[in-house]
Order: sequence, then C-alpha cells, then structure tokens
Amino acid sequence: MMDPGVVEILKSIVGPDNVLSDQESLVCYSFDATRYTSQPEVVVKPRSAEEVAGVVALAYEEGIPVTPRGAGTGLSGGSVPVQGGIVVSMERMNSPAVIHKEDLYAVVEAGVVTEHLQRDAEAKRLFYPPDPASQAACTIGGNIGECAGGLRGLKYGTTKNYVLGLEIVTPEGRLTRTGARTVKSVAGYDVTRLMVGSEGTLGIVTSAVLRLLPLPRARRVIAGRFKDITSAAEAVAEITASGLVPSILEIMDDKTVEAVGAFLKESLGDGVLLLAEFDGAKSLCEEEASKALEILNGRQGGAIEDDVKGKKSAKLWEARRAALPALTRLCTTVILEDVTVPRSMLPDMVNKITRIAGKYDVGVAVFGHAGDGNIHPTFLTDRRNPDELKRVDAAIAEMMGASIDLGGTVSGEHGIGLDKMPFLKLEIGKAGYEIMKRVKGSLDPGGIMNPGKMFYDS
Ligand SMILES: Cc1cc2nc3c(=O)[nH]c(=O)nc-3n(C[C@H](O)[C@H](O)[C@H](O)COP(=O)(O)OP(=O)(O)OC[C@H]3O[C@@H](n4cnc5c(N)ncnc54)[C@H](O)[C@@H]3O)c2cc1C
Repeated sequence: MMDPGVVEILKSIVGPDNVLSDQESLVCYSFDATRYTSQPEVVVKPRSAEEVAGVVALAYEEGIPVTPRGAGTGLSGGSVPVQGGIVVSMERMNSPAVIHKEDLYAVVEAGVVTEHLQRDAEAKRLFYPPDPASQAACTIGGNIGECAGGLRGLKYGTTKNYVLGLEIVTPEGRLTRTGARTVKSVAGYDVTRLMVGSEGTLGIVTSAVLRLLPLPRARRVIAGRFKDITSAAEAVAEITASGLVPSILEIMDDKTVEAVGAFLKESLGDGVLLLAEFDGAKSLCEEEASKALEILNGRQGGAIEDDVKGKKSAKLWEARRAALPALTRLCTTVILEDVTVPRSMLPDMVNKITRIAGKYDVGVAVFGHAGDGNIHPTFLTDRRNPDELKRVDAAIAEMMGASIDLGGTVSGEHGIGLDKMPFLKLEIGKAGYEIMKRVKGSLDPGGIMNPGKMFYDS
C-alpha cells in the first residue's frame, strides 16, 4: 500500500478527484487486452505535461514504479503495472489536435484517440495513415509507446514514420522536447526514434508532432476468396513481388471469417478472405487493382469482388477490424500473437503455424496484415485449463523460433511488454540485448519507468 503522505502530494499535483485508490478503480487499471493482470497502488490522471512531470519527479524521489497508460488496448501487457506503484493514465490529455495544414503536421496530446486525429485531419483534406484496428479506442501515446502499425502499414509504414518530434517527461521528472517540426532534422542523436516503441520504459510522452499527408484522391477495394490459407498467402507473396503496392492487403482465415460473420450477424461466406485496397490518383488505382485482379484470378479461388464500393467496402473494413473481438466470443481466453516474416516467406510461415498447432493439439485462427508479412495467429484456449495453456505456450515458443528462422521477428507491431520477454534475446542476441539494457540503465537510472517489462531480468 502506498504511503498516505505520497498520495496527498499526488492529490496536490493533479487534484484530489484525479487520484484513484479505491478497489474498483484499481481493478479497472490492472489489465490490457492480454491475459496478464496486476493492480497498481494508485492511479493518477494528469491534465498537463507539467502535472505529469510533477508526478514522475515525486516517484523518482521516492523510488516508486510508474506505468504509463493510454487506453489499455495493448496486446503485449505493456500497461499492466506488474510492480504496483503509480499508473499514470493519459486519458485526460486529449485536447483536439492542432493541425498545421500549410506545413503538413499536427501537434497532438498523448491521450487523443487515434481515430479522432484521423477524423480531424480528414476534415482538412489531410491524412494520418497509421490505423491500428483498435483505432476507435487506442491513443496516440499508446501508438507511440508500441510503434503501432495497422492495416495501411504496407504502403504507408507505421507510427515511427510519422513522428517528427515529441514532448516527453524523463524518468527523473524533467519536461523536455525531442526532434523538430521540420521535414528534416539531424541535430544530434535521434531521441525521438528511440522513444517510439520504447513501451513507456524510457519516459512518458505528453504530446507529439505528427507528419500528415494529403488525403488520397481515390480508393479502390477488391476482395478474393481462397479454399485454404496457404493459397491466399501465395497470392499475397505474388502481389507484393509483382511490384504492386496496395495501401491495404489483409487476410482472414476461414475460422476468423465465420466468427466475424456471427459477430456482425451478417455472413461473409466461406473460405479464406483476402482484402486489398489501392489508393492515389484514380487512374493509378484502376491500373493497380486490375493487375492484382489478374493475379487473384490466375489462382485457384481467386477474385470474388472486383470493385467494392461505398457501404459495402466500409462493411468489409468493419469486418476486418472486428476479427479479434469476434474471436474472443468463441472461447474463454484468446492469446493473439504477432509474428512478421519477409513477405516471400508468408506461405512458409502459415504452413508452419498449421503444423505447430496440430503438433500441440491447440486451436488457432489466423488473420492480419498479410501484405506486411505480419500475421496474428490467435490461440483459442481457456486459462482454467493449465494443461492446454502449457501446450499453447509451447506452440507459441516454437512459432517464435520458426519466425526468426525465416528471417522474421517476434513482434511486428505489438511490442515486447510481458508477452514477448522470453523471446527478445533470441531475436537480437546477447550483445544487442546488452546495448538495450545499457540504454535503459542510463536513461532511467532509478529503474522506475514501467519496470518488469521488455527485459526479463529488469
Ligand atoms: C481489437 C484490437 C485490435 C488491435 N489492432 C492493432 C493493429 O492493427 N495494429 C497495432 O499495432 N496494434 C493493434 N492493437 C494493439 C493496441 O491497440 C496498440 O498497441 C495501441 O498502440 C495501444 O494503445 P493504447 O492507447 O491502448 O496503449 P496502452 O495499451 O495503454 O499502452 C501501450 C504501451 O504504451 C505505453 N504508453 C501508453 N501511453 C504512453 C505515453 N503517453 N507515453 C509513453 N508510453 C506510453 C504503455 O506503458 C504500454 O507499454 C489492437 C488491439 C486490440 C484490442
């Protein structure tokens, strides 16, 4: 339990109504979208960067663990306060983004919901591409914490490609800025890039300068259906190898398609679905979509919709974004993974996932950002069945090894957090691990920022 004197100082910093320590509140801030839970001792909800700095300076002085939290939609356990202490919830730092149309950037507080930034940018004919499937809930701070990707990653990259600069609170509680508002800046080390994907272990982002693009003039959506996931993965590899760059290229296996149909109460048909979008100038969209259709039609299964428009296309993207919530309806516990391989290796990876699931006799559904080589094998299990959970964990470990063997990574977009801690060293090696630990040690000398994450020996 936290020293009552510390709680009183916290109340003086953020206001008494914004310090929560009742049991119900602590439970609400004890989990994210993974299976992990752990309660904080206190939750604070600052409204300004200065308040965040005050809270962190106090924690540094007192040696209290601090866990930053956005919306808690994370899929690696990052915002679960495993060592108790203070959860700093950024939910009140959500003023509307200030958009600088002439210079194509926005200044955005960390607690702004991603979809709200997208909506505000679109109102000015601008475009913020990173679009995690959780965009209706997740925050810009959480996206920066995890370097979130999304459906448009194939053409537009991920969060790191849009962060020009940051305002951050260091682990000692100092408020500072990184980066610039310019298109270019090489003034010293790229601390901005280091912060992106640092999972709240190196400081708290209070606001960000985010690059915007002009809104694409046209979009064209096509869909294909395949009898099995390997054929669909082969079509993905062929599309990317052909030089086409769809803005979106997503896959949903038959189990996911069925679950989403039941969830949305609208059948999506049978088989494996491949969804692609092309954007840009109208003529280019047409040309690229026709070439992709040729590829789909040249394969067994092939194209089913050669021009999905309006409400119908919105429905397809809604269906894709509903994949995880729909699968959670099928069982007590879902464990979603995040392997990413070079695109040409995608057919091999999906074959290995099928083989590994069979070997350990566990249920798995597969969907994801296939065009990025990033898929989410989602294990359907029950945490009350320890024997099955053991087999799921063994299957996950083998799958991580397979991804690395194929030249891939253990996490494309969800981060290490708690979930991938056992696999980080496997991917980056002993020397790489030591470098990361040295960075952590020098920037967070008190070891208070999101302790117990990323490094299993932290
Ligand atoms: C249905 C569903 C679909 C999803 N789809 C995608 C997807 O397509 N692509 C994708 O990449 N992810 C996806 N995710 C995962 C998740 O939404 C993202 O990782 C998102 O970026 C988390 O944002 P959040 O605000 O919920 O952050 P949280 O979960 O609260 O925090 C995530 C991490 O960031 C840190 N953090 C939060 N705020 C700050 C801050 N201000 N400063 C420093 N660190 C901070 C936390 O400590 C934690 O380590 C999905 C999740 C769900 C539930």
